[in-house]
Amino acid sequence: MILVCRNTSRLFLLVVFGVTVSAQTVASLVNEPSVKEAFEIVKRNEPDMLREQQRICEIAAPPFQESVRAVELKKLFEQFGLADVRIDKAGNVIGTRSGVKPRPNLVLAAHLDTVFPPGTDVKVTRTGDVMSGPGIGDDCRGLVVMLGVIRALNEARITTPGSITFVADVGEEGLGDLRGMKELFGESLKGDIDAFISIDGLGASITNTGVGSYRYKVTFKGPGGHSYGSFGMANPIHAMGRAIAKIDQFEVPEKPKTTFNVGRVGGGTSVNAIPFEAWMEVDLRSSDVSELDKLNRKFKTAINDAVAEENKRWSNRGAVSVSTDLVGLRPAGQTPESSPIVKTALEVNQALGLTAHLGEGSTDANVPMNEGIQAITIGGGGSGSGAHSLNENFDAHDSWKGTQRALLLALALAR
Ligand SMILES: [Zn+2]
Repeated sequence: MILVCRNTSRLFLLVVFGVTVSAQTVASLVNEPSVKEAFEIVKRNEPDMLREQQRICEIAAPPFQESVRAVELKKLFEQFGLADVRIDKAGNVIGTRSGVKPRPNLVLAAHLDTVFPPGTDVKVTRTGDVMSGPGIGDDCRGLVVMLGVIRALNEARITTPGSITFVADVGEEGLGDLRGMKELFGESLKGDIDAFISIDGLGASITNTGVGSYRYKVTFKGPGGHSYGSFGMANPIHAMGRAIAKIDQFEVPEKPKTTFNVGRVGGGTSVNAIPFEAWMEVDLRSSDVSELDKLNRKFKTAINDAVAEENKRWSNRGAVSVSTDLVGLRPAGQTPESSPIVKTALEVNQALGLTAHLGEGSTDANVPMNEGIQAITIGGGGSGSGAHSLNENFDAHDSWKGTQRALLLALALAR
């Protein structure tokens, strides 16, 4: 049930709490005059927001070097009148649009970082609806959808019953290892987040399963020596070979999808030397927390067994030792289909005539999912191809629908 009351200067949109959000509620939200007005504003602002998308994307944001783009977002958050705008220890830009009450507090986030190293040409070109440039979709689109939502709420003078905190975050890609989210949920907004939406990817997608991963660098070491003169010593590369053979034999379920990969190897000094060092990089993944942990335990056992076998083979002459360093950890998690946030997202799609299937991915939402905080990742509208490549492009045909969807979802949840 929705109550709308006016005071002298502001329109307050108040919603009487229900245990779950029903389709009727989302459907009736769409017909609220203030929401209709906000939708019109989104559509009207879109050409402007697309220029903004291009401008923001031309500010380089390589991994671990997001600060220049972060400062720009901070300026925009301030211009849009968000409260308590700040940059936290990790580099996340945070600003709150206060509601009637501080809770529930919905976080709407998009990531600042790209996969592209410093020095990459980040110039964006545009032909009609199509913009091309590194990061133009992933995740400059997400950043701009977030800004579009703030603008529309402001211009339609909507005050939500609960609050919405906007976050432009760091460290989503690759070895960034979700460090922005870890800081946000572990420190900056610890205990203050009731629901979380990341805007990442395009179209009308909804991701409610977070694929987790462990990434390791494993280093095998021994004294090394001459291949002929010192023959009879344990060999770090041989030990690693034994480990790889064991990993290759792992049985993993197809569902929940669980995978392993030895991605890089290195080591040795010469064809006629017993090496003193060998190393490999290993990626273990699953969309299920317990399967990932099971795989992780098998992996550790395989490494230790391989080393023990190699040392036993050579009666511990020049024994090999091993160190296993965790270089990446993305927690796995899932927001169940029955949770209010997923149900609401599906209802919002339906109300706007957008089709979506629930999907899985590795995104910022992994962190809250793993902590049991309801979280999803949604696409930012439009379409495109070539994410993580220099040929990335974004097709803005009807892209305003993505911003409308984020807006409606935010209104349905910030109460
Ligand atoms: Zn992304």
